[in-house]
Amino acid sequence: MRSPRGEGPTVHVMRLRVRDGHSPSAAWRAAVERGVRALGGPALEVVAAEDFDGAVRELTGSTTYSADRGTGTVGAKTLDTAAGPVIVVNTKVLTDTDLALVERTLAHETGHALIDGRGEVLEGRRDLAGSDWAWHLLCIAGIAMHEARCERAVGGLGYPAPYSSTAEHLVAVLHETTLELLQAIPEPTCEDQWVVMQAVIPLLDRLTKVLAYAAAEALRAGEAPAIATQGVLAVDAWQEYVAPTWERRLALYRNLPPATVAMPEADWHQSLVQGALLEHDLLRCLGFEFEDSLGGGYGFYRRVDDDRLAKWVQRGLAQEALYEQLESAKG
Ligand SMILES: [Zn+2]
Repeated sequence: MRSPRGEGPTVHVMRLRVRDGHSPSAAWRAAVERGVRALGGPALEVVAAEDFDGAVRELTGSTTYSADRGTGTVGAKTLDTAAGPVIVVNTKVLTDTDLALVERTLAHETGHALIDGRGEVLEGRRDLAGSDWAWHLLCIAGIAMHEARCERAVGGLGYPAPYSSTAEHLVAVLHETTLELLQAIPEPTCEDQWVVMQAVIPLLDRLTKVLAYAAAEALRAGEAPAIATQGVLAVDAWQEYVAPTWERRLALYRNLPPATVAMPEADWHQSLVQGALLEHDLLRCLGFEFEDSLGGGYGFYRRVDDDRLAKWVQRGLAQEALYEQLESAKG
């Protein structure tokens, strides 16, 4: 194992605490350590927890944190605590059965710790946005850029692409987006724009993170995600939601240094402002947009007409049928 100091005995900069569950194996511990060291081995604490949500709640003081939202169960999360960076590892997800995934995930999370440690974050940057809605979009953009930077660092070291960056996963998320957009749109008579906004913005947030993974892999491989392998419905969804902003996303992410390399503050700020505009355009492609009101304040507006809604219903049903077919073909 390579020592970060270059020579002499290995310096253990990483502390491992087992919060709950049984004690991990030596092979598991070694995989965790390799992952952290792959990104330079910064000083940090790793907490192994079977009760992952409980561990995150304990460390953040949150009463509501739950990992099981979004695209599936979370394997690990990096927290920036007063005592320094902590990577909480979900030992129900990252187990002895896939040590390569354990190592890769720890490398990715160490990227977050490096970015946090250099202060290339969102805190204290509210001034970059001219309104509350622009700030919200800027935060979504910033979090996606963190993911892209961690993935670019990990991909650059030769780790294989994760499932999250595959066309199959991307298409599944696009399909869920269609279904959940349809659910978010109530009867026209009782439409409350704030209720709709609270349903739609998490869909945008989830989609941008998946796109960050996919874009990092596309930049590494030099080719676009193979959406066409997933069928014509998938291509249709991609064309409608993502294709109009995809090249701009690649251009934005191409200019970001990997998580291991510091980013000048002016560049980070410029990227955040551009990212907020990009995510607003992605939101428009999902059929919604924010608009400032004349007398101050703002609104959240649906720009989807009945024809487009009917198309969503049709595509959603057809994709469901296709998934069922594939499922039964598997036996
Ligand atoms: Zn991440």
